Amino acid sequence: MEGTRRRSTTNITKPTHKLIDQDETSTVTGPKPSDALPLPLYITNALFFTVFFSVVYFLLTRWREKIRNSTPLHLLTLSDIVAIFAFIASFIYMLGFFGIDFVQSLILRPSPDVWAAEDDGEDEVDLLQEDARIVPCGQALDSTAPPPPQKIAVVPSHHLKPKVVDEIPFPTTLNEEDEEIINSVVAGKTPSYSLESKLGDCKRAAAIRREALQRITSKSLSGLPLEGFDYESILGQCCEMPIGYVQIPVGIAGPLLLDGKEYSVPMATTEGCLVASTNRGCKAIRICGGAASVLLRDAMTRAPVVRFGTAKRAAQLKFYLEDPANFEVVSTVFNKSSRFGRLQSIKCALAGKNLYMRFSCSTGDAMGMNMVSKGVQNVLDFLQNDFPDMDVLGISGNYCSDKKPSAVNWIEGRGKSVVCEAVIKGDVVRNVLKTSVEALVELNMLKNLTGSAMAGALGGFNAQASNIVSAIYIATGQDPAQNVESSHCITMMEPLNGGEDLHVSVTMPSIEVGTVGGGTQLASQSACLNLLGVKGASKETPGANARLLASIVAGSVLAAELSLMSAIASGQLVNSHMKYNRSNKDVSKVAS
Ligand code: ADP
Repeated sequence: MEGTRRRSTTNITKPTHKLIDQDETSTVTGPKPSDALPLPLYITNALFFTVFFSVVYFLLTRWREKIRNSTPLHLLTLSDIVAIFAFIASFIYMLGFFGIDFVQSLILRPSPDVWAAEDDGEDEVDLLQEDARIVPCGQALDSTAPPPPQKIAVVPSHHLKPKVVDEIPFPTTLNEEDEEIINSVVAGKTPSYSLESKLGDCKRAAAIRREALQRITSKSLSGLPLEGFDYESILGQCCEMPIGYVQIPVGIAGPLLLDGKEYSVPMATTEGCLVASTNRGCKAIRICGGAASVLLRDAMTRAPVVRFGTAKRAAQLKFYLEDPANFEVVSTVFNKSSRFGRLQSIKCALAGKNLYMRFSCSTGDAMGMNMVSKGVQNVLDFLQNDFPDMDVLGISGNYCSDKKPSAVNWIEGRGKSVVCEAVIKGDVVRNVLKTSVEALVELNMLKNLTGSAMAGALGGFNAQASNIVSAIYIATGQDPAQNVESSHCITMMEPLNGGEDLHVSVTMPSIEVGTVGGGTQLASQSACLNLLGVKGASKETPGANARLLASIVAGSVLAAELSLMSAIASGQLVNSHMKYNRSNKDVSKVAS
């Protein structure tokens, strides 16, 4: 956790701890009162030290003299008076510089109980150690400089225990009106979800929600950036109740030479080695003339579940839907939902008197879940005329099957089904991949095929397809949860030319991607789609962009499979991961 806590040095009336962000961090390293001194601090200190001890010595000597001479102590000479003034001045100076810091450190030290009440003790030690960092990571990565922070005093609500947050420097300007709204959210009078509609300003809503959340939880969000994001762009489409955004680095692999064209593949990941490994695979493929892909099928699916009084009635609807004579009328009803959704087939399965109807349709450049759902709803309404006893239990009955591992997707496909292949020359296997054709073929058979069979894998006959699928999905605004079925992949490695060369292929039946809709329209994701030349809707051939993106995903998986399998075959895997994928920082200090 990036949140940082430390002992407060200002505006604190009781032993406590508080949240801190970059503003306070800068206060710690910023101007000090001593900066106002005409001389350097160490010279001033030395001067006052000397004065203090000299006058103490002088006054003690004078005191002894007066006692010896029986002179009354209150009779002062000019030098006595000057010495007393010098004594008082130097004493005040030293108290100011050393005494107050000491007294504050005693008063403001948080009691162990306060820490323990919040979190586990060990974590706190780590957090305090982490506080030594001058600039929070999030801030360092944020390319846009936030405006000067404004300090806000918390007005404790009577609904809540007084919070330990005395002041929270905040990187966006919050005015008095905002302060009132924050207090209202903290007090539970204004629902957090209503801020966008009430304020009509998404950025302000996010800022206020975030501030309220920090106060309610007494947890800092200082590492989670707020600035530099278009909150209007996600309203009603991508994310509710935003408080900031998570930064994920995007690496670039390639060029991937696929079907005669080169692509630079953006991968959003925090797994070291992944981009480097994919890059190496791309290199091997490119030297050997590139990879080739074929789109086998393009259809998104949705399967509602309906119930009848008897299994016989459920079967009647199954026969009706699967009769080619009825397809035209059903598809006409389905296709009314969109210019792009075109019904391709309906596959039915019975469970007693319950019927599951798996509608498959093309969806243009959209991933297509919304589109297919609308078409299915049209058909269900239409079927109700001829089957009034049909009880619709759910628009999705999991026979679709979305975001769950399932054999139906592995066997029938969902989204784009793609096969991608390449021939890797023996010398490239040896010189670039540092292994042999024989070792790769054997490892693939024993790991990706036999090993996965032994594990009872469902579509998992590969080494790391999901790594590449997830990284490209996040970079290009796909739904990362669909990584589940989109990563179904069987990797084949077979000897060619008497074992001199290698034929490698990946077959992926369920790549669910789109270039319009969902997260694809957001600025960063859209830039990554643009890099691949597949941004938005294809003007010439609707669906061409999404299909090309699916082929690029498969091509990238092919490259990464080659590279990882080679690393394992040659025993390099552990070494390279130790080098690129293992933090050499003390992780206990970063842990939360
Ligand atoms: P999804 O079905 O993947 O959830 P959305 O319904 O959010 O996608 O987005 C698809 C929208 O984009 C539809 O309204 C559709 O009419 C529109 N659209 C525009 N051009 C295309 C295209 N080439 N392919 C698919 N949809 C398109």
